[in-house]
Amino acid sequence: MPDSALNTAEQFTPQSVKTNLLGLSVSKLGDFFEQLGEKRFRATQMVKWIHQMGECDFDQMTNLSKSLREKLHESAEICLPEVVSCQDSTDGTRKWLIKVEGGSCIEMVYIPEKDRGTLCVSSQIGCALDCSFCATGKQGFNRDLNTAEIIGQLWIAAQSFDQFAAKAPRRVSNVVMMGMGEPLMNFNNVVDAMNLMMEDNAYGLSKRRVTLSTAGVVPALDQLAGVTDVSLAISLHAPNDELRNELVPINRKYNLKQFVESAKNYIEKMPDNRRKATVEYTLMDQVNDRSVHARELAVLLKELPCKINLIPFNPFPGSDYKRVTNTALNRFRDILQGEGYTVTVRTTRGDDIAAACGQLAGEVNDRTKRQQRYKNKLAAEEVPVKMLD
Ligand code: SF4
Repeated sequence: MPDSALNTAEQFTPQSVKTNLLGLSVSKLGDFFEQLGEKRFRATQMVKWIHQMGECDFDQMTNLSKSLREKLHESAEICLPEVVSCQDSTDGTRKWLIKVEGGSCIEMVYIPEKDRGTLCVSSQIGCALDCSFCATGKQGFNRDLNTAEIIGQLWIAAQSFDQFAAKAPRRVSNVVMMGMGEPLMNFNNVVDAMNLMMEDNAYGLSKRRVTLSTAGVVPALDQLAGVTDVSLAISLHAPNDELRNELVPINRKYNLKQFVESAKNYIEKMPDNRRKATVEYTLMDQVNDRSVHARELAVLLKELPCKINLIPFNPFPGSDYKRVTNTALNRFRDILQGEGYTVTVRTTRGDDIAAACGQLAGEVNDRTKRQQRYKNKLAAEEVPVKMLD
């Protein structure tokens, strides 16, 4: 597994800068305790305290000796991102705005369904991939989140639902790395955080219930197949290169054929041969919603074990795209189902609280002035939109 968060001995020395234990795996915590002159098994105790019991105060960790707790006060901390706001929708959707070091904000959304509760987690502040229909992409890229900032989102949600209490029901049953950012552009930190999500002594989520969603960073997806087998979602949004080059610019570097092939390799390496990729396809009125697109998509995905999730576009200020009509949505779905695909349609949730993903964070505390730069750009030029007959 990549070992990214702690890779120099200096990080263990006592301590002008304290080590944040929140994002450390059991193995890295073991190294940390060894450096303190303690036994490695302390790592498992610490992971349980932080991620199973939600305890961040060393003095409350009753199975640690007083002298160890004193050492921890000197050299370590458990430092969480700060919740700026938390809004509840009438349909049970919850949305957080979270401030991270440096003052920028990220978003996190919880979506309850009949048989599960899914937490959508961010991996970066902003995003460099600049997909033309995405509010996050329009704000540009600020920085990667570190492992603590990624796993800290799950910690915040678990605490918010009282999940750390003894015998409490697990409200967050699934995590999707589908919030702000492209997870594979922050590879090591995302892999480390997902491993903590699946760690038995932490959140214990099964690999089926942790999903990484990518827009197609093909070399990193190939690499991922060697280090984990979490569930995979691929953000396609177009059935041919010409259209996808415009909607998802990374396609100019790694085209659809390469992307789908890489996803197929990933799925085939999974030990459980029943697993399928989820294909995410955002439908925009008269852009990618025609019958011809549905038929092209059916051919493109022929060799990939997958199900298809259709997402009606959620308009945001500054975007020229429009939501797909119900007629076009139904026609698109029917064509794919007719070709034998399992197709789901994402229902709009949290309408009363939610802006498009990324919009909320972009509107506040934008210290890099990304939003202003984007508004200036909008004022100066037309946003290109491909409209088809
Ligand atoms: S859709 Fe995903 S990959 Fe594309 S710009 Fe938005 S956050 Fe980045």
